[in-house]
Amino acid sequence: MERNMDPKRCPMPSQPADVRNKNFDEVALGYTPEMAVREAKRCLHCKNMPCVAGCPVGIHIPAFIEKIAAEDFEGAYQVLAASSALPAVCGRVCPQENQCEGRCVRGIKGESVGIGRLERFAADWHREHVVAVPQKPAPNGHRVAVVGSGPSGLTAAGELAKKGYQVTVFEALHTAGGVLVYGIPEFRLPKDIVQQEINGLKALGVDIETNMVIGKVLTVDELLEEEGFEAVYVASGAGLPRFMNIPGESLNGVYSANEYLTRVNLMKAYQPGSRTPIQHSRRVAVVGGGNVAMDAARCAKRLGAEEVYIVYRRSMEELPARKEEVEHAMEEGIVFKLLTNPVEVLGDENKRVRGIACVEMELGEPDASGRRRPVEKPDSRFELPLDTVIMAIGTSPNPLIRFTTPGLDTDRRGCIVADEAGATSRPGVFAGGDAVTGAATVILAMGAGKEAARAIDEYIQSRESK
Ligand code: FAD
Ligand code: SF4
Ligand code: SF4
Repeated sequence: MERNMDPKRCPMPSQPADVRNKNFDEVALGYTPEMAVREAKRCLHCKNMPCVAGCPVGIHIPAFIEKIAAEDFEGAYQVLAASSALPAVCGRVCPQENQCEGRCVRGIKGESVGIGRLERFAADWHREHVVAVPQKPAPNGHRVAVVGSGPSGLTAAGELAKKGYQVTVFEALHTAGGVLVYGIPEFRLPKDIVQQEINGLKALGVDIETNMVIGKVLTVDELLEEEGFEAVYVASGAGLPRFMNIPGESLNGVYSANEYLTRVNLMKAYQPGSRTPIQHSRRVAVVGGGNVAMDAARCAKRLGAEEVYIVYRRSMEELPARKEEVEHAMEEGIVFKLLTNPVEVLGDENKRVRGIACVEMELGEPDASGRRRPVEKPDSRFELPLDTVIMAIGTSPNPLIRFTTPGLDTDRRGCIVADEAGATSRPGVFAGGDAVTGAATVILAMGAGKEAARAIDEYIQSRESK
């Protein structure tokens, strides 16, 4: 097959920046079949497959890309589906530059192969062209409960259902999908993609019960001892927002990114007549530098704010957000105030935000994380006039399950302690995803769900054979 030795990857069409920053439609529009084939031909099919080692779920990357190059798009999807439950999601949101694409040899002298873009293409092609009716497996007579319907819980539920388990997913919110629906905005991940995956699970026989807060309505112990479940997989994520503990954080107009994004994404606060309206701001600062901060800033812009700032205490180099999200945010007019740290949220006489007081920072010696520690510059305090402040400085697991499940070990960050297979200190209770790792990535949460499903199957089968 003729190779494409262009050092640059085939660009992906997207909405122009000054159009997309006023709507919630998807930014990147995806490859056409011709573009996908052209990009696929850039792959060298390396024998040692360094890209595969960079993928947390070990997708056979050259194999699926070869299928695309040969125009066998469904074949490419089947290769992806063998290792990943949500390729249309991962193709869009994986931090590819640190994973598969970061290891691609084409990246040494040019741009790496667009693995994520090709993954997205094959998954979308399958969704749009193939009507797959999942075969409901014969029931094996065992019941498993899953707490949380994010990527980790959904993956575990799907894997167990395929083995014949009767799986019930308990979700605290009124909609299933976890961060995929309440956190990541529509313009990065259209919700109908996630919904289609959820419909597929329901067709497999998975029961999803929403508005069910485990720890309140039922406890983990009650699921095991009274509700007839033989194992529980806790995939309740890390949705509890952290704040900076600086003066003024309780003023009107200060949001956690979690609340802000939930209102925008799940409750459609941007639509006229929404029951959970969000204040329409003129000047917004989002504190933090991760994907969550970029999402919140880009939502604020789309809701009509004239000025939106990212306030981050380190430099551009240390920004933890995906490179593509940072570039998109800049193109859309978000202003980056780097090496800047808020020290106080300032209020007016009505206890409404009127600004933040910040200090300038410089980078000192590396800290335990290996990143250079930001140090305050003397006499550098200044004020930034604002009407809204969104805190996006991290999250930790909600303590509800920990408090209501005796004997379940957690670490000092409040994360559930589990081994690689998801087994916890309580027999029959498994855990994975952000609830165990703290805020991480979709693909790691999915990988944990897959591994836990295997371990739960082993646990239940070994009990049966005793
Ligand atoms: P979650 O997705 O958090 O799902 C947990 C679910 O459990 C939630 O639905 C919650 O309501 C439910 N729950 C919690 N407690 C209970 C309870 N007691 N009873 C019942 N249900 C409960 N990762 C990437 O790879 N790429 C990105 O671009 C990216 N962007 C992100 C943007 C935002 C705004 C956020 C917040 C995160 C982002 N992430 C990204 C991180 C990624 O989404 C998470 O790592 C991943 O969703 C974790 O999956 P999970 O299944 O463990 O938990
Ligand atoms: Fe890359 Fe993520 Fe796909 Fe793995 S799942 S190949 S890391 S985009
Ligand atoms: Fe193809 Fe890059 Fe993987 Fe080599 S490293 S097989 S070029 S995707």
